[in-house]
Amino acid sequence: MINFDQMIDNHLHKENRPKEIGRYYPSEIGTCMRKVWYSYKFPMETNPELLKVFELGNILHDFVVKVLKSEKNPDVELIKTELPFRQEIEDFLVSGRIDNIILIKASGKNILVEVKSTGNIDFVEEAMHHNKIQLQLYMHVTGIHNGILLYVDKRNLKSKVFPVNYNEEDALKIIDRFKVLNKLLKTDALPDPEARSGKESLWMCRYCEYRDKCYKEDPSSPRWL
Ligand code: SF4
Repeated sequence: MINFDQMIDNHLHKENRPKEIGRYYPSEIGTCMRKVWYSYKFPMETNPELLKVFELGNILHDFVVKVLKSEKNPDVELIKTELPFRQEIEDFLVSGRIDNIILIKASGKNILVEVKSTGNIDFVEEAMHHNKIQLQLYMHVTGIHNGILLYVDKRNLKSKVFPVNYNEEDALKIIDRFKVLNKLLKTDALPDPEARSGKESLWMCRYCEYRDKCYKEDPSSPRWL
């Protein structure tokens, strides 16, 4: 017999390459600054279960592309998918991939579509802050000031769409966040435990692989429990 679980683990296994200070990612900048900082200074092997969750997300992205390309959806045209994104700022680089650009034929409008998979769409009542930040940056750099966040349920393919309004001031603040991260990494200065600063971000600590380290360093601020 074959052990297919093991075969999946083998297939998904990747050598852990430490992240390079000076190269940053739009998908991370809206999350906890301290967690991002730790991920550069103390890289960790990605848990095989998490690799499977990421892979499911990739599979779902491919499915969304098929739906956007389908001739059974003639009102929408898929212009680009997995578009590489690179932006040099001061002495560092921000790089990522824009999921999709579509054209709404009736209005002639181009729209950036960022796809996020979710475990239960019923709990998604609004777009998540860190996802909006990522899209805001893409809108700023591409000049395409129409964007939507598309959440798709991994269990049943149900979806919800949230438009995100472009705001130049917000986009510039995001660029400033990259500058702060770059400086804190280069000067070896630990950021504040940002996700613990408010109730709405405390959930991030629950999924944070650096939780023990972070609480040891700052035991006083709130716990996620
Ligand atoms: S435990 Fe919370 S505050 Fe600390 S690094 Fe992780 S997400 Fe940030």
